[in-house]
Amino acid sequence: MLLSRERIAERVGELAGRLTSDYLKRPEPPVFVGVLRGAAIFLADLIRAAPIDIATDFMSISAYDASEGQSGVVRIVKDLDLDVSGRDVVVVEDIVDTGLTLNYLRNALEQRRPASLRVVTLLDKSARRIVPVTLEYVGFEVPDLFVVGYGLDFQGRYRNLPDVLAVHDLARLINDPGLLQRDHQNLNVRC
Ligand code: 5GP
Repeated sequence: MLLSRERIAERVGELAGRLTSDYLKRPEPPVFVGVLRGAAIFLADLIRAAPIDIATDFMSISAYDASEGQSGVVRIVKDLDLDVSGRDVVVVEDIVDTGLTLNYLRNALEQRRPASLRVVTLLDKSARRIVPVTLEYVGFEVPDLFVVGYGLDFQGRYRNLPDVLAVHDLARLINDPGLLQRDHQNLNVRC
């Protein structure tokens, strides 16, 4: 286990506190943009810990195509419903890894002329960064390992784990995709 639910809750509270004081006096509620699907759980906890008016919207971005290499070519699969021009926008991410997705997203959102644009990410895997991206609010720096839980998946599983687990042996998980669910329940591990 990399991050227990208790540590996550504490840090989410701290981030929400900073966001609250930064956006409290703004004329209009900020628009928190969750990046589907990984950030949904983080966003849900974050906005409930912030006692200010917040508008929410979601975007979904396709993973960059392997055939494109690491060119950062991604596609908007689901766009915003809200018009964010003139609004304060806070992009809510689960994890920033190479930075390619967020770099694309930041550029795409900047073109809509928001009043401001900031990013809050629960996890930052900066060791793998390819494109430098600005992250105004970071929950935790994580090592260069594949992580699951608290919204993050492996082949569609584990998003509902309350803790964040780091996968040391990805080959074992590929062979037995349900492995962590059983381990997590049986061992009731805590860090
Ligand atoms: P990027 O490499 O573009 O910064 O990251 C794009 C996306 O890859 C993230 O939003 C996340 O969905 C996925 N990703 C990156 N690292 C991990 C990881 O360790 N675990 C999981 N489950 N997804 C990851």
